[in-house]
Amino acid sequence: MPELPDVEIFKQYLDATALHQTIDAVDIRFQSGVHPQAKANSLKEKSFKELFREMREKVLPTAIERRADPAQFPDDYIIPQRQKGGHCPKCDGELQQIKVSGRTTYLCPRCQKK
Ligand SMILES: [Zn+2]
Repeated sequence: MPELPDVEIFKQYLDATALHQTIDAVDIRFQSGVHPQAKANSLKEKSFKELFREMREKVLPTAIERRADPAQFPDDYIIPQRQKGGHCPKCDGELQQIKVSGRTTYLCPRCQKK
């Protein structure tokens, strides 16, 4: 298993993609239980490793395979559920709508912590 990439570069990637709310960023954070507004620098080592693992092994390969089409994402991803009244694919709780740097996004307040 390859080592983590340069930590500083990965942190920049996490913060930049969160800013733009790209679909990979949204689900990397959801799958890892990390809040959309959490800054990479504030993450614990464990969350950080989890984010990298989810990105490399799950979310990016899926996004590439589904040609980044949100409608084609699997049911256990948050991307297809992102709408008013949408439910969390993990706990079935109602998703919460928030703004991240002016962009509307959704999170599960139960599954995603800062
Ligand atoms: Zn949930």
